[in-house]
Amino acid sequence: MTQAILTPAARTGTKPETGPDTGAGGNARKVFVKTYGCQMNVYDSERMGDALSRDGYVTVDSVEAADLVLINTCHIREKAAEKVYSQLGRLAKLKRQRNAEGGDLMVAVAGCVAQAEGREIIRRAPVVDVVIGPQTYHRLPEALARARNGEAVVETDFPAEDKFDGLSATPEKAIRARGVAAFLTVQEGCDKFCTFCVVPYTRGAEVSRPVGRILEEAERLAQAGVREITLLGQNVNAWHGKGADGREWGLGELIRRVATIDGIDRIRYTTSHPRDMDEALIEAHRDLPELMPYLHLPVQSGSDRILKSMNRRHTAEDYLRLVEKIRLARPDIALSGDFIVGFPGETDADFEDTMRLIAEVNYAAAFTFKYSIRPGTPGADMEGQVNEAVKTERLARLQDLISQQTRSFGRECVGKVVDLLLEKPGRNTGQLIGRSPWLQPVIVDAMAGEIGDIVRVRITQPGTSGLFAEVVE
Ligand code: SAM
Ligand code: SF4
Repeated sequence: MTQAILTPAARTGTKPETGPDTGAGGNARKVFVKTYGCQMNVYDSERMGDALSRDGYVTVDSVEAADLVLINTCHIREKAAEKVYSQLGRLAKLKRQRNAEGGDLMVAVAGCVAQAEGREIIRRAPVVDVVIGPQTYHRLPEALARARNGEAVVETDFPAEDKFDGLSATPEKAIRARGVAAFLTVQEGCDKFCTFCVVPYTRGAEVSRPVGRILEEAERLAQAGVREITLLGQNVNAWHGKGADGREWGLGELIRRVATIDGIDRIRYTTSHPRDMDEALIEAHRDLPELMPYLHLPVQSGSDRILKSMNRRHTAEDYLRLVEKIRLARPDIALSGDFIVGFPGETDADFEDTMRLIAEVNYAAAFTFKYSIRPGTPGADMEGQVNEAVKTERLARLQDLISQQTRSFGRECVGKVVDLLLEKPGRNTGQLIGRSPWLQPVIVDAMAGEIGDIVRVRITQPGTSGLFAEVVE
């Protein structure tokens, strides 16, 4: 089993279900969307939801109420595929019941498991009507129509056209229903080929969306009340494109332009590769108040031997110097990272190098994983696979250190006056939850303002999964 800790400062990458709320009722077709994995999958589910809403579907929040179940899968670590198959087993039972009662249930599997397994999914789970990979979502309504005519549809090629161009724009009402902080995918795929990772195989080659399309979408989000945009990409800081001035832009320039959009007060981006952290992006952190002082910058390991074997193309020292430079440009920046323990060949000494790097950087948050063999990646065939018990022990030590750092970061925030974007009601009545500039959930009294307001607050105390604050008069 792989594990991750989602520390309080890290925004959750998963939502139980997503999709449009068209407000239609009665005889509309009903879809239940289940999303696994990263923010990019959340965004993709939203866009598929938009396409389905144009096709007459409304979103429901249970499998039982649905005519169509769409599972958007993640393949980053093992067992994801097995989880999907066991879920499909349960859906097969439900479909048989429906059929016996004269009804029906359609099932579509999307995402990276769909891409990796392809037709095998329908062979093992004939309940599935449509298998659709991450680059062909614009074909979903058409694929469902073909499936309704009895075809078992598998769409897993990497077409030349941009899937987002083929997907309809999100209706304003759906944007408003999703809240005041939104995701916007600007880049997809990856050419880095880290030896542990399936992304280059399941998401394909690195592709940047054009500036015009990104700005159009950002403006539409702003007009529908969104105040914070998180630009997404598997390797988001590898984004590049031709700017309005005719020059080639990188992510730093793109962020500068997005920051000029009326209504967009906060910008974030994720996930970045240390190699693609260029000067213009660091300068954007220095210059732009809209760019939040929080950076997710995975390093994976602190051992140069392991980094080389992972094909990360940077050393631990490169990473530390980069962190130094970023902190010089933006001293209050909070850093988070990804770490893998037990990569093939990782010795106790390599692991201690990782612990030393963590101690030196001092993270606000991190995602931590045990290495998980991904068939087809170079790591799967490497010698020196690490014993599970050793991985478990290293993971526990690493998580303990990160938790200490996260807690101490939270404690250091007490007394600070910060701007808070109020995002949603709190768990308890009379409370609202917002995000600090450092992505921590912060709980305030509901009298602090309305959802969508940015209010000045003083952090008063750390809690178990966030911070508490009071409004500064
Ligand atoms: N592009 C990002 C980067 O370069 O760091 C990461 C994208 S990946 C979707 C998210 C994280 O999953 C990685 O940073 C890595 O820590 C983890 N991961 C990927 N493959 C893994 C594997 N085979 N076993 C364990 N963790 C893995
Ligand atoms: Fe995977 Fe990130 Fe490496 Fe690309 S850069 S192969 S997405 S870990």
